[in-house]
Amino acid sequence: MTAALIDGKAIAASVRAEVKTKVAELVARTGVRPGLTVVLVGEDPASRIYVRNKEKAADEAGFLSRMIELPTETEERELLKVVSRLNADPSVHGILVQLPLPKHIDSGKVIKAIDPAKDVDGLNPVNAGLLFAGDAGFIPCTPYGVMRMLDHEKIELKGKHAVVVGRSNLVGKPVAMLLLSRHATVTLCHSRTEDLSSVVRSGDVVIAAVGKARMIRGSWIKPGAVVIDVGINRDDQGKLCGDIAFDEAKEVAGAITPVPGGVGPMTIAMLLQNTYEAATRSLK
Ligand code: NDP
Repeated sequence: MTAALIDGKAIAASVRAEVKTKVAELVARTGVRPGLTVVLVGEDPASRIYVRNKEKAADEAGFLSRMIELPTETEERELLKVVSRLNADPSVHGILVQLPLPKHIDSGKVIKAIDPAKDVDGLNPVNAGLLFAGDAGFIPCTPYGVMRMLDHEKIELKGKHAVVVGRSNLVGKPVAMLLLSRHATVTLCHSRTEDLSSVVRSGDVVIAAVGKARMIRGSWIKPGAVVIDVGINRDDQGKLCGDIAFDEAKEVAGAITPVPGGVGPMTIAMLLQNTYEAATRSLK
């Protein structure tokens, strides 16, 4: 293996410890304890695990952590009422509605209903617009985590070619905007990109957010490139893996994130960071 391993678990633990210290200071100084409420609609087992992990992490960091569980058949207007109640509750600084929502609910409408000042997932169009404009809103947790990892590893971005594979609103697009704001030259790829392997091979930094097990091969990676794998997939054997063929890519890359233990743990850590920021901003 030639690549340095970027240990997301360790970086996330340090972010969480830092947030915990800041929360204790905030409580001591102002009496305000950051509050995070996670709303889960339905029975999706993966969502349930994610939500529990978020709740646990928030508890550990000293937040006022609450979870609202609603049945699958909850009507859209009922969910909108819950959101509006949380918007009005001063003890709630961060609201996260776990996605995906059941099909009969318009998730865009629900996300739009969250007060942008409490939108710690950073998905409300106001926060997406602020990111586009280069202003300080809330950055979606996974892209924020990717940037934090790059910073932790002191990866130079200025003038470098960053190739992002995947253009979702959740990951690809915000990551591209963040890299651009740091003066990288950014190429945003998707399912219609022609000759994807050549484009990826020109990247000094490669961010994979596709959702296809080991799609990006070692031969696509420029020697010495920094490779960040956002993908979380199951292969044919049911084994957890990323979008990058890790065993191949680690022989070529300069630095690489594993799956699991890479970007995944960063997402929750940055959710805590955003909620802490929401609480401090609410005091201004
Ligand atoms: P989406 O399904 O919303 O987007 C996938 C993107 O990949 C789309 O832009 C799509 O292109 C593109 N794509 C699909 N197939 C190809 C292909 N063959 N070649 C090039 N591009 C392709 O996924 P998300 O962005 O929500 O998630 C991506 C991955 O990241 C998933 O594995 C998900 O589980 C994981 N994830 C991990 C998180 C974490 O905490 N670590 C958090 C969020 C997601 P097009 O737009 O043209 O359809």
